[in-house]
Amino acid sequence: MKKPSDSTQHQQKMSKVKLQIDRQIAKADKDQGVCVLLTGNGKGKSSSAFGMLARSLGYGHNCAVVQFIKGDWECGEELFFSQHPKVSYHAMGAGFTWETQNQSADQAAAEKAWGLAASLLADSKIDFLILDELTYMFSHGWLDLDKVIQAIQNRPSQMNLVITGRGAPEGLITACDTVSHIKDIKHAFRSGIKAQRGIEF
Ligand code: ATP
Ligand code: MG
Repeated sequence: MKKPSDSTQHQQKMSKVKLQIDRQIAKADKDQGVCVLLTGNGKGKSSSAFGMLARSLGYGHNCAVVQFIKGDWECGEELFFSQHPKVSYHAMGAGFTWETQNQSADQAAAEKAWGLAASLLADSKIDFLILDELTYMFSHGWLDLDKVIQAIQNRPSQMNLVITGRGAPEGLITACDTVSHIKDIKHAFRSGIKAQRGIEF
């Protein structure tokens, strides 16, 4: 059982915390779309992006997804969200994988995916957009970073954007509003457990 003095102290501490939070909320008065970047080697980048897609759909927003690296293998998010009437779903880049090793085909696939992403980024009817695994386009030199940053910055002001992928370049980190670096501590795969439906894909 807590002593009465403990509970008074706790109450005082909590009202200070509340005051601070209320001040921060009052200061955040800009109502504009954000660009969220999820990077790092840990698991949870794309699945977090699709979590925000579910949130946005809860409010009836118009949503779009471009998956820059996506082979022919199935994944639960595509099976589910591509059926949704408010989601325009584009699994691009069937061309580029480490399996093809064809530079010019990869470059062409990247340009094609970017062409689509750029048109969605300019579309004022889209409220929420995911550019999944976009960062690999820079690590392989398939896309020009400045061109992409310019399109991100020129998008309609209310559009929320989520970008995922390992090894995000500094320029992209600077250009985004919310950036999380997901750290890899352990992954079941390394102890020999097979990729699981609903968890991995
Ligand atoms: P998820 O889609 O599960 O959120 P992610 O987007 O963070 O993962 P990616 O780098 O895109 O990670 O890798 C996609 C696939 O690889 C997923 O099946 C994921 O579970 C798996 N994966 C992610 N991180 C690791 C890791 N550190 N070791 C092994 N496999 C991983
Ligand atoms: Mg991913």
